[in-house]
Amino acid sequence: MADSTVQNTAKKFVLNTGNAIPAIGLGTWQSKPQDVYNAVKWALAHGYRHIDTAFAYGNEKEVGAAIKDSGIPRKDIWLTTKLDNDWHTRVPEAIDTSLKNLGTDYVDLYLVHWPCSIDPDNKSTVLEGWDFIDTWREMQKLPATGKVLNIGVSNMGIANFEKLLSDPSCKIIPAVNQIELHPANPSPKLLGYCAAKGIHCSGYSPLGSTDSVLYSDDTILAIAKARGRTPQQILLLWGIKNNTSVLPKSVTKERIEANFALDGPGLTDEEFAKISAIQSRFKVCGDSWLPQKMFFGDDE
Ligand code: NAP
Repeated sequence: MADSTVQNTAKKFVLNTGNAIPAIGLGTWQSKPQDVYNAVKWALAHGYRHIDTAFAYGNEKEVGAAIKDSGIPRKDIWLTTKLDNDWHTRVPEAIDTSLKNLGTDYVDLYLVHWPCSIDPDNKSTVLEGWDFIDTWREMQKLPATGKVLNIGVSNMGIANFEKLLSDPSCKIIPAVNQIELHPANPSPKLLGYCAAKGIHCSGYSPLGSTDSVLYSDDTILAIAKARGRTPQQILLLWGIKNNTSVLPKSVTKERIEANFALDGPGLTDEEFAKISAIQSRFKVCGDSWLPQKMFFGDDE
């Protein structure tokens, strides 16, 4: 069945906290500080109300400045940032640093960027005597401070969720798991697991990231042609129809605008199934750069 009149630009997903995250957010990984300021301003002027950044991206200051200069009330914008791996033992200090960078009193969503606690004094090693369960114990104190409205995780697979959720110290179920999601990394098992636990999944690298090979995938191209849409729009429509929020990154004005032009007829169930059946597989963000394995190949 076709989604005949989908209003994706206004669409939100309700989280287990009762708060609602806009379905389309602007990604900012690899957006250089001088570019990200313009990108965020263009995006907000064009209608985006969801911006995704991270301490690790080194651009929180410019993201915050663009939000301020946009003239759009802070309360109308969903702002996500993330706890970096070498700050796990210093959650209160980390959130204060991010808030200062962003020039705001609160973020809508604060994510543990990776479930990997790294030694700040030796960034190539795991921190002894501390892991992401300890980090989550600290994260859970944040909503009471008013500095963070929702807490969540990122890059969490089922094995790590099982550890976290079964630990007696886990009192708050993460509101969001931000994970790599596109037709070549669809992770239906992990999505099913999160849905069963009431955890919303946000899809990162929804276009397949830099120099995406998905733009030349035959299935995507055929559906894009039939629909008079760009391959990027088809990928984003697929992500949203998959009940995930999507975080396309661009620093190019025309692309930022085109990636938000997602209202109107959506994908039919048949088109959605065809895209979901794409067989090629790749992962943009693996775990080889970390001193600990994060992915165990069992979430796909
Ligand atoms: P992406 O959004 O899938 O793709 C971004 C790339 O696509 C950029 O090179 C961009 O180029 C290009 N692009 C964007 N729109 C386009 C269009 N309409 N036509 C042609 N090319 C287009 O990749 P991503 O940045 O990896 O992921 C998105 C966001 O997810 C990140 O920015 C970040 O916020 C988040 N993320 C989170 C994690 C995590 O660990 N939690 C990891 C990765 C990403 P230009 O910018 O040059 O236009």
